Amino acid sequence: MLRGLALRVLLLTPPMIQLNTPYPATAYLTGFLRKHAADLGLDVRQADPAIELFHRLFSHAGVQRMLATLRGRLSAGSGRARRRTAASAEVPPSVASFLAQGEAYAATVDAAVRFLQGRDPGLALRIAGRSFLPEGPRFAPLDQNAGDTAVDEPLVWAFGALGTADRAKHLATLFIDDLADVVRDGIDPSFELSRYGERLALAAPTFDPLRDALEGPATQVDEALDEITRELVRVHRPDLVGLTAPFPGNVYGAFRIARAVRAAAPGTRVVLGGGYVNTELRELSDPRVFDYVDFVTLDDGERPLLALLQHLRDPAAPLLRTFVRAPDGRVVLRTDGALHDVRLADSGTPTYDGLDLDRYLSLLEMLNPMHRLWSDGRWNKLTIAHGCYWRKCTFCDITLDYIDRYDLAAADLLVDRIEAMVAETGQTSFHFVDEAAPPAGLRALAQRLLARGVVITWWTNIRFEKTFTPELTELLARSGCVAVSGGLEVASNRLLALIKKGVTVEQVARVTRAFTAAGVMVHAYLMYGFPTETTQETIDSLELVRQLFEADCVQSAFWHRFAATRHSPVGQKPDLFGIRLRREPPAGGPLFARNEVAFDDPTGTDHDGLGAGLRKALYNYMHGLGLEEDVRRWFDAPAVGPRGRAVRIPRPSVSSHLIRDALAARGH
Ligand code: SF4
Repeated sequence: MLRGLALRVLLLTPPMIQLNTPYPATAYLTGFLRKHAADLGLDVRQADPAIELFHRLFSHAGVQRMLATLRGRLSAGSGRARRRTAASAEVPPSVASFLAQGEAYAATVDAAVRFLQGRDPGLALRIAGRSFLPEGPRFAPLDQNAGDTAVDEPLVWAFGALGTADRAKHLATLFIDDLADVVRDGIDPSFELSRYGERLALAAPTFDPLRDALEGPATQVDEALDEITRELVRVHRPDLVGLTAPFPGNVYGAFRIARAVRAAAPGTRVVLGGGYVNTELRELSDPRVFDYVDFVTLDDGERPLLALLQHLRDPAAPLLRTFVRAPDGRVVLRTDGALHDVRLADSGTPTYDGLDLDRYLSLLEMLNPMHRLWSDGRWNKLTIAHGCYWRKCTFCDITLDYIDRYDLAAADLLVDRIEAMVAETGQTSFHFVDEAAPPAGLRALAQRLLARGVVITWWTNIRFEKTFTPELTELLARSGCVAVSGGLEVASNRLLALIKKGVTVEQVARVTRAFTAAGVMVHAYLMYGFPTETTQETIDSLELVRQLFEADCVQSAFWHRFAATRHSPVGQKPDLFGIRLRREPPAGGPLFARNEVAFDDPTGTDHDGLGAGLRKALYNYMHGLGLEEDVRRWFDAPAVGPRGRAVRIPRPSVSSHLIRDALAARGH
């Protein structure tokens, strides 16, 4: 099979993930496979249907089509769609506003997108004047806070009188958000800008919902994605299509593309991999998955893909961690113990060749300088170390390869790769996408960047450990570091010990302050609902987070609701954490995804009743608001959990100057 011919490989990023920069998986794998192109006779290409889908929908033609669809439903006044979007009492505000200003949206959408791509900076003045773009419900918060002055308070707070370009970027982003709401509320309820069909893949033990959606009536979004796929197949004529599914929010898109490939080119093989697959599909047994894809690979894709390509050349060649449907219809995992993963040093330099980088958009949604890094600007992506050097945190997937296999690349090799990527893209901004970049590796990298005179801007994820002294943070800043993110998890020393984070709240305060003092912004990942966590501990944690913002230790943060996974110590040894896993229903049929495990915590805290208040507090802190106030003010009194119980919010029991004292102890 396929002996002697050039094997054409097309690597694709299914929608939706992010709009500002390509997701790195295809860039990594393209760089790696091209190292082997000559030996194996490969023609390796990549494309990004996710950004193409965005452009197809958010364009003059796309908006006209939405308008025609929604107006058609309105005038037809019948059917399911009418009940959802047309009867005046049921028309969502986003759709009503869109219908009222439809022509203005169609006339300005291309200009707004071009502006957000950085192609038309002069348009900033018109957008900033707020009479150019139509405005929908997403603009309402700007006006709620407007005073008697001619300008809006939040915009003045964020951009002052001169920040015209950023102000316009924020307004154009709200315009795009309004349109995305129209797509979701009127065209396809599965659509969001950074996820598509996520609900279908979240905690999905059975493949039924995904399959039903794939085989049900196609929406305008589906049709656009099908059309993009057919075009890609026509242009590239691939023998193998590789799809990456890092998140639940792009799994449906992956299967949709696979389905369209099957229809357009039945001889083309399709392989699926990525973070979602690695964590959720390890026990895959549903053969219907293979109606869409031919292979599903686990963990890092480099070696399994290389083995698969050799296998396509010679069916006797072994596979590595690859699910296939056997001739008898069963799903089997083929893996050969003699094959090993590729060291980071041998994985090659990621390449964006084939992706049109000018098509990505810089969005400015949150008026927070740190938070904008996730959606604003194009970042070259690179990994300093595979896995995590710490790999002890009890909520983390430390038994899986992406955390467990630690492999640090040499600093000079990294700088070589950085130089190659700058030469290819013309861009000097880097996001090192490590799970937790090691302090020693960062020090070595910073020293080599400075010694070799390589000027870049970078940010990464770290663990807030005490090795990050003021001397090291200052060195990192000099080498171009502008931001770090890291897990503070629960700001409680009892729970940090249970998590085995290896840090204390006081240490985190000193480390984060050292970064901030060096001019590096800090984002903290926070968690609530850890086993045995009490309401008092959650409120105390919020109080310490408040103090960290107040002391300018962190500038941005995000609360995650704790979830136990099968691959973490909590999921594997629940007794040690005082919880009981709920019995899973006996396997009644073939399995699709499995990762999160439900549990009972005898502590009885109603964590769901606290979530809204925690998020409200952070949102305000990130905008510099409410930092002097009692943390109880963010909770409705009394907060009510989903079980209908009132959640009494206690007074914080920690000192109101704990963080200040921790900083003073070391003379910060
Ligand atoms: S949570 Fe972060 S620091 Fe902890 S083991 Fe996982 S990757 Fe490492």
